[in-house]
Amino acid sequence: MEQTWYREAVSQGWYEGPSSSVPQPASTSEDWYQLRDRGWRRSYVTQLTGGTRGLANMGNTCYMNAVLQCLMHCGMLAEVMLGSEDSTGLPVGIKPQPLTRAFTEALVEHWRSSHELAFRPQLIKSVMARSAPQFAGFEQQDAQEFLVFFLDALHEELNEVKDKAYKEIQDDENAQGAERARAWWAHYESLNQSVVKDIFVGQLCSRVTCSRCGHVSMVFDPFWSLSIPVPDEASCSLAACMHAFIAPENLSGENRFFCGRCRTHTDCMKQMTLSRCPDVIVVHLKRFQTRGASMQRTRSTRGSGFSKLATVVNFPLSDFDLRPFCAQGAHEDTYGYQEPLLYNLIGVVNHYGASGTHGHYTADCFEPRSDQWFHYDDSSVRALKAETMDQRSAYVMLFARATA
Ligand SMILES: [Zn+2]
Repeated sequence: MEQTWYREAVSQGWYEGPSSSVPQPASTSEDWYQLRDRGWRRSYVTQLTGGTRGLANMGNTCYMNAVLQCLMHCGMLAEVMLGSEDSTGLPVGIKPQPLTRAFTEALVEHWRSSHELAFRPQLIKSVMARSAPQFAGFEQQDAQEFLVFFLDALHEELNEVKDKAYKEIQDDENAQGAERARAWWAHYESLNQSVVKDIFVGQLCSRVTCSRCGHVSMVFDPFWSLSIPVPDEASCSLAACMHAFIAPENLSGENRFFCGRCRTHTDCMKQMTLSRCPDVIVVHLKRFQTRGASMQRTRSTRGSGFSKLATVVNFPLSDFDLRPFCAQGAHEDTYGYQEPLLYNLIGVVNHYGASGTHGHYTADCFEPRSDQWFHYDDSSVRALKAETMDQRSAYVMLFARATA
């Protein structure tokens, strides 16, 4: 029996270790439901044994593995998915749906298992492929794009709001910025309620000032991931990239903006700031320069027209203060953030190679039980000294808000 399992595991690329340390077969979703029924899940937090398990590459799926490692190391998400007090671990009334089930299975495999067998996230891949066909094949994909698709899909499965009928935003253009930000957020929450939203969704304020009449127009949009510019320099700090992101930008020529007061297109000044910071903020460094501004890459442009910035971005491991990038001061209110807004790094997706659709992805994740960083390269896992993290390759970073 073990022999058969071992042969299959090796031939499928699930397991690369010696036969003397053949582990028990990985549990299936069915096993997981048995575990759940035995009440195992309740003791999740105290019974963690794993956390350093690799993920098998299923053919150019390193983009997916790197993202999944970061998300599985996101303690808040893992605890919500695994540690709930009720029998399902999910919000009351939520029936486990495909991606929730597949991700929970991966979490159980990751945190329960102490053996070295790399887990194969086949179920996640096939579920994602159904909703986003670009993830169906075996071509390299963009890790940030996958991360946002994944979180959004998980959120939609867990979304407790079923009535998606159009609702008007209760916005008063004469109100203070903070009040308007809350009105837009309330509108978003009236359509979106999930544990995934609670952890990951922030809000961006886009403020456009007409240069002719001074009229200010504001919109407040939710975001899953913050895409910030990287300068074409040898090195810079993450804070410098963030400052560039919130720097006022002149909109003129074909980018002119329609001013509601002038009733015509005028030159104007646009500024982005954070009006709401999530518990876990995903920061995406825009290292890939595309020829067009199109967000949706097509097959014809794939692999061509991209150049990558290998700028060393010095990022802090802890106490990264987001308050300087929040809407305040200029808006004559502080949006409620009076104190420093400190975040700690919990995971990094690295990209190696010259193009987003080629090359290789790995993850560096913080494992709180051992107070140690680990480097996850598909099925291979090794301890990592934080000071040796590769700041030239960091592509997507996850920061968790420090709790008081
Ligand atoms: Zn105007």
